[in-house]
Amino acid sequence: MNQVFRKYCILIICFVISNQCIGQQIRVFESAKCNKDSYFVNVLKPEIQSKAPVVNRIIQFILNSNERNKTYEELAEFVDTFGGRLSGSPALENSTDYLIAKLQNENLDHVYTEDVLVPKWERGTEWAQMVEPRAQRLGILGMAGSASTPKGGLKAEVLVCNSMEELNDISNDKIKDKIVLLNTNRVNGSYIKFKLDGTRMVADGGGVAVMFRSYAKDTVYSPHAGIIRYYSKDTQIPVVSIAAEDSDLLHRLSKRGVKVMVNLHLESTFYGMTRSRNLMADLVGTQYPGESVVVSAHLDSWDVGQGAIDDGAGVFISWRALSLIKKLGLKTKRTLKLILFTGHEMGRFGSKAYVEKHSQNLQNTSVILNSDYGTFRPFGLTLSARNTRAQCIVYEVLQLLHKINATELVVGKSYDLTQSDGNEFMRAGIPASGLLNDNTKHWYYSHTNADTMSAINPYYLDLCSIVWTAASYVLADLTEMLPKD
Ligand SMILES: [Zn+2]
Repeated sequence: MNQVFRKYCILIICFVISNQCIGQQIRVFESAKCNKDSYFVNVLKPEIQSKAPVVNRIIQFILNSNERNKTYEELAEFVDTFGGRLSGSPALENSTDYLIAKLQNENLDHVYTEDVLVPKWERGTEWAQMVEPRAQRLGILGMAGSASTPKGGLKAEVLVCNSMEELNDISNDKIKDKIVLLNTNRVNGSYIKFKLDGTRMVADGGGVAVMFRSYAKDTVYSPHAGIIRYYSKDTQIPVVSIAAEDSDLLHRLSKRGVKVMVNLHLESTFYGMTRSRNLMADLVGTQYPGESVVVSAHLDSWDVGQGAIDDGAGVFISWRALSLIKKLGLKTKRTLKLILFTGHEMGRFGSKAYVEKHSQNLQNTSVILNSDYGTFRPFGLTLSARNTRAQCIVYEVLQLLHKINATELVVGKSYDLTQSDGNEFMRAGIPASGLLNDNTKHWYYSHTNADTMSAINPYYLDLCSIVWTAASYVLADLTEMLPKD
């Protein structure tokens, strides 16, 4: 895959997540500028290069011992046992207990949890059926937090709008009593606000429900889960995500002037806030125990699929990073801190709570590694840090991974490339790094019923595990923390 295409992949991620990144500057890091930094060249670079034998041991250990495929097998057992781990669900809390026992069994230092309040919502029975011009079941997922349909469901004609502007131009008498389909994933600004505004406009016009076209550009009949918030009680009408293919179908029918009627049944219950937990474990540093490199992912997932890619795989490469370093008998100068966040999918409740609780000593974090955008074939890392020396350090660490061809660094100039829980740390000035991997198909799976073990390649997962373990080890063992902006 060439560099231009890889840049394109990153842009795609930004588009579907925040819809704000297009046009902003991202770039493959140019290492020539590091030669102008004599301290880097004479002190830091040789120190990083001296870690090559250890990194080679890590590579050998993961690929050529009985550790091979172990991350995959452990992850499969985990997600097959607990399935989707929705915020506030018994499955999430049981899976947290399971991992606590695993971490304690491995004698990692300081395995502990911190309570976090997260929303508790439950999906009930839901279905949509086109009844005119012919019968066809439609692929939908109710949005978390949505209002339910009246008992027995509702039946209404579908009005298709291909943009927010189009919806804005339609008179209320045309919206009244309709199910409005917003058949677009081109959004200016926040996708959450787009849903909020669209729902309000439909509700204000007297519409009875909203269907949002599933937000990934390319999918294979898999509507995406998501959250919906309302401006006020008056705008609380049922909201669902509809598979792109069905959205296209309804659009084509309507364009031909065919009247489309749909039966919609949606049960959705919000129970308020409930207790959940962030889970932490440390490998305490030998020289700077108060400083840390955070290795992280989120433990909760959507209720559909198994939460394997999003974010079970991130959880397991993060846990395994500490586990493998311990098994190899390696020690690091500063503490390696594993954080498995809760409440991510409902709005990053876990990472927000962590940053708030630890704001006093957060600056002792050198960098947060956060894996949340796939464990496909890895190429290297992304880094959200403006400081050139920090970029040079991470670039040089990646050069130790030439044997697995994962030496590339992509840096963002003005925004967070990790676009996940790392964001919360970045806002506090902490450099954030994610896996640079071939995640062009990430949104085929993530947040859908297709997020299962079948989408994960065991060999690539091992390669991601190597990148994660090696980067964690070297960054935590350097004499200095990554410089902050
Ligand atoms: Zn995620």
